Amino acid sequence: MIDDIDSRGSMALGGPRRATVLIVDDQAANVHALARILGDEVTTLFALDGHQALARVESQPIDLVLLDVMMQGLDGFSVCQRLKADPRTASIPVIFVSGLTEGADEERGFAVGAVDYIHKPFLPAIVRARVHTQLRLRAALQELDRMARTDPLTGLANRRHFDQRFATLLGEAMETGGPLSLLVCDIDHFKQINDAVGHAEGDAVLVGVALRLAGVVDGAGIVARWGGEEFVCAVRLDAGDALDLAERIRDRVRSEPIAGHAVTMSIGVTGVDPARGAREAFLRADAALYRAKQAGRDRCVLAETANGS
Ligand code: GH3
Ligand code: MG
Ligand code: MG
Repeated sequence: MIDDIDSRGSMALGGPRRATVLIVDDQAANVHALARILGDEVTTLFALDGHQALARVESQPIDLVLLDVMMQGLDGFSVCQRLKADPRTASIPVIFVSGLTEGADEERGFAVGAVDYIHKPFLPAIVRARVHTQLRLRAALQELDRMARTDPLTGLANRRHFDQRFATLLGEAMETGGPLSLLVCDIDHFKQINDAVGHAEGDAVLVGVALRLAGVVDGAGIVARWGGEEFVCAVRLDAGDALDLAERIRDRVRSEPIAGHAVTMSIGVTGVDPARGAREAFLRADAALYRAKQAGRDRCVLAETANGS
């Protein structure tokens, strides 16, 4: 196997991540020609047959595949089909570069999931333009996806993302019988901070609380900003361990001022019964949180009957 064609310092450059294009062709001359056309703006890797191409995609992040159709062994159509069938690689755009120029061939290329089809012999300017269009589109889609999942103020997962992850965790708990707990965390008297020193400083407190929450939960589960000054955590722990975690969160939040303010938090905790679903878990955790507030705030309360814990 030939080494990466573009090793001209590409990885050493800082700044935004440079796109990586995998060129697949059984003719090394074509690979070199395409790599030259793409130049220094992207990192180019290559494979000389279909199996090598799949191995490459498995082993490192690839942003786009330029794929020959006619190759010994696994042909380009089959490679594309396999990439599209695997959820880990399905979103990588594939552009066929082929000597098969019949309409039916091109149609088949799109049918197996390609985003574009370039005829050989190719014109450099057209290859460059089409590759750059797809790379820009991919970068925009990735950014959109990130934005759709993230709370812009704190950088935590947002409610939408939490819902998806929680549904996955519920399915997993249902299947394995493993533990799952839910924490609903609400900053105490947060409105007073806003009222006293303004919204901007309130925002800084939210960011500080989010950092501490994420720091305590770390790899134990997922943390999200549910909305306003409310945060949620789902953890693969039984209710008792989840209550311990909640106490650690509460301690960490109140341990030292956040953006100059003494902040406390009330937390409702419940074991989750996957058979009863997300809604029921939230009702229970919310009820526990309500009791924590009623009892004077700055405390953690475990839901009364911890089904599934
Ligand atoms: P409690 O102890 O009962 O939870 O009282 P609280 O003041 O924390 O709760 P309340 O629900 O009365 O007030 C929440 C406040 O959070 C009101 C709202 O203006 C503020 N808030 C919601 N989202 C944001 C935000 O993104 N930034 C800032 N600065 N404030 C926000
Ligand atoms: Mg509050
Ligand atoms: Mg609230």
